[in-house]
Amino acid sequence: MHDTGSHPECVARILRVNEMLHRSGWVERCKTPEWKLATREECLRNHSPDYLDKLQSWCKDDAGRIEVDTVVSAGSWQAASYGAGAVCDAVRRVVAGEDKTAFCAIRPPGHHAMPQSAMGFCLLNNVAISALTARSLGLDRVLIVDWDVHHGNGTQATFWEDPSVAFISIHRFPFYPGTGKEEETGAGKAIGTKVNLPVPASTTAKDFLAKLMQSTEKLASSFKPQLILLSAGFDAHRADPVGGLSLEAEDYESAGKWIRQLAQSTCEGKLVSILEGGYHLTHMPECVDAHLRGIYAGEQKDPSV
Ligand SMILES: [Zn+2]
Repeated sequence: MHDTGSHPECVARILRVNEMLHRSGWVERCKTPEWKLATREECLRNHSPDYLDKLQSWCKDDAGRIEVDTVVSAGSWQAASYGAGAVCDAVRRVVAGEDKTAFCAIRPPGHHAMPQSAMGFCLLNNVAISALTARSLGLDRVLIVDWDVHHGNGTQATFWEDPSVAFISIHRFPFYPGTGKEEETGAGKAIGTKVNLPVPASTTAKDFLAKLMQSTEKLASSFKPQLILLSAGFDAHRADPVGGLSLEAEDYESAGKWIRQLAQSTCEGKLVSILEGGYHLTHMPECVDAHLRGIYAGEQKDPSV
């Protein structure tokens, strides 16, 4: 167990999500694949061997705080490896066409984790590992959409010079981690494949969603992704104790419906949604429930959770 004690990114988050998945019938309705640990090879697609060794040894030593915001316990390596394993498995299934869509209910989150270091509650960058897994399976164009309230700086760092992975992030700004300005658009051949949408704390839900939708549709229509990966954070909810903009749970239903339609119109519906932030123990599971209602609206059977 990734036990962080009285930290906002706590064990109760995933327990509450799990309770909701049972209570709302998602577990009955969806396939639940067997959990597998990510292999070292899969983690090495995004992280340096030196960092993986250090992380494993910190966890073995039950090291506690390893970075200003990030805590590990004896079970953290296993939890992070199961999370990364789940996203790799989801990508394999969706790319193979066994499933159209998947939602990965995992913790710790990943989008701040850098190739060579932990950061901002994140140990392994799940979405980056999953994009690189898709690339290893032969996909040439993967789009990552990040609507967590924080900028996905770790994901952006991995793909900064990589034109095969487009990345769009909408996030509160100025805010943690301080990156994600509009002028950050990638480097070299990748210029223009990174899109940052910084929004002030006063942004309404309507404006947040309109900006996200318009800019992502524009990027998707020029980039033509073969797969969409979603860094699904729910900390833009109005009551979130860490982030917080003005979104309500229902807004995540609209956003879920929209991204499913976007995947259908651009990449045969291939979509993998990965849990990132969201720290309100009652509202976050409600947001996840709404998100799944949106994604699976009209779906008869067979999504994976
Ligand atoms: Zn966040």
